Amino acid sequence: MCGIVGYTGTQSAAPMLLEGLRKLEYRGYDSAGIAVIQDGTISISKVTGRIAALAEKTEDGKLLPGVTGIGHTRWATHGAPTQPNAHPHASNDGRFAVVHNGIIENYLELREELIQKGFHFESETDTEVVVHLVEMYYQGNLKQAVMRTSARLRGSYALGIVCTDYPDTIFVAREASPLILGIGVGENFFASDVTALVAYTRNAIYLDDGEFAELTPASVTVFNCAGQTVSKKISRITWDVQAAEKGGYEHFMMKEIMEQPRAVKATIAPRIQGSDIVLDNMDLNLEGIHRIWITACGSAYYAGCAAKYAVEKLCQIPVQTELASELRYADALMDEQTLLIVLSQSGETADTIAALREAKKRGAKTLAIVNVVGSTIAKLSDYCLYTWAGPEIAVATTKGYTTQLALLYLFALYAARKRRTIDDGQYKTLLSSLKALPRQLQQALDMNPCIPQVAKKYCGAHSMFFIGRNTDYAVALEGALKMKEISYIHAESYAAGELKHGTIALICEGQPVIALCCNEALKEKTMSNIVEVKARGAEVLAVAHRNDPKIASLADDILFVPKATTLFSAVVEIIPLQLLAYYVAKENGCDIDKPKNLAKSVTVE
Ligand code: GLU
Repeated sequence: MCGIVGYTGTQSAAPMLLEGLRKLEYRGYDSAGIAVIQDGTISISKVTGRIAALAEKTEDGKLLPGVTGIGHTRWATHGAPTQPNAHPHASNDGRFAVVHNGIIENYLELREELIQKGFHFESETDTEVVVHLVEMYYQGNLKQAVMRTSARLRGSYALGIVCTDYPDTIFVAREASPLILGIGVGENFFASDVTALVAYTRNAIYLDDGEFAELTPASVTVFNCAGQTVSKKISRITWDVQAAEKGGYEHFMMKEIMEQPRAVKATIAPRIQGSDIVLDNMDLNLEGIHRIWITACGSAYYAGCAAKYAVEKLCQIPVQTELASELRYADALMDEQTLLIVLSQSGETADTIAALREAKKRGAKTLAIVNVVGSTIAKLSDYCLYTWAGPEIAVATTKGYTTQLALLYLFALYAARKRRTIDDGQYKTLLSSLKALPRQLQQALDMNPCIPQVAKKYCGAHSMFFIGRNTDYAVALEGALKMKEISYIHAESYAAGELKHGTIALICEGQPVIALCCNEALKEKTMSNIVEVKARGAEVLAVAHRNDPKIASLADDILFVPKATTLFSAVVEIIPLQLLAYYVAKENGCDIDKPKNLAKSVTVE
């Protein structure tokens, strides 16, 4: 998520920090700030909005003299994008400042503890606990304080910490968030990625999880979590800035596809505490809900379609899905016993906002699942759960979709337990299935090295059919949309059982049919449909579990996914289809990150 930078050397730090932050702008952010040490004090400047505003406010950094400093672009996860919530955050005694990327999962209990001890908080962020912990643990030795602080934190973090007692030193620490040290001559740097470093140095040290480091102008020392020095290799950065922005991938879409295991974990793990699911501050009375609507547009709508099965089955409440552009004019039956769930990556989707407003007028309770903190939908809805996917830059969503889906599964399980519609044994089994999803997503990414090759075979198609039943059908919807969006190949999704009722007339020699065969209870039925289309000359690409010899013998090509609980399986099944769409689009020379005629956030009707 977003960016951090730091500099210690002989030049003015502030202009270097601003320049570094500009290089990280592509990562997406909503506010920014810098802190510089000078004459025993830390000066902090922060703004909401653009780096340009920060540059203006600080007169290009001139107002913050000093040669050691840290900077931050924030993508809000906890607390709205306001100036008090922007980083750096300062300790109560003003001796420390901290920047942080990531999420501190146990911040509520730490905050409670720190308030008890007399610390006061100036922001709503999870981050602020870090700076107060450092102050609490500091007894003249910053390394010890950083070590003890890190030991208290659960979650993900890349931290930059400065202290007035150490005027030319920066401490950094890393756990599951990107952090790279840049090694200069008489000066040293850190940043979230190499884009912010390459203008100054191409020598870098990549910190591993659990490590922390001390930077001075003349030295860089890396420690393990026990405080022992570790010797690290200095790597040569060979990427140019453009490659570095995309994490070395050719497109943001591929980078975001690869981020999915981490994004899904970041979204669900903090909300699973022991054997409990803790959904932020939700006090929704689920006993009083008799009907659920799920609404959204595009892929978010398809996430709703896929999650419907889990929500309905686990909570034993009828669930209807409807496109927001339809629901807003549908004069739908909704009342106080209705829960409307709306999904939107940006939180600004115009049709979804309109549907939400309409439902509120009718007295329905509303729950939003969005990725952008403080967005219109987040503010309008009664309850809001954030997907902590981080900024999504590619227009075609990938991690936005899978995090929405995973969060809906989590909600379904939470609600089912509250409503006592599942027993403890079922709850436990399903919770461990949920926890397995990030690992299974990684497996799904790793297990199909053949996809670029398969894409070569299918990229010349004029149209494709995506078929499946039940949860597999929901995946077919999103798979077909992905293919259409980025490769411009006409793709239709069909409930496999519907083929006979008309569409099978379109199947002819060589027609690609992508068949989802992962739903345990129904895959035999889909296999019959495969036989039917094969008999009419279709070329069938199946998505299935490994060790399914029957499917392997029926299909022309096969992509594998790990076996997840059927109710939650859509989230892993979509992975090979995202990759297929990507490689087909690439074969066809399409503009993958910015498909024609599409916008990332659709703020008009
Ligand atoms: N969780 C922190 C916040 O909301 C940091 C977000 C970030 O990575 O920018 O302030």
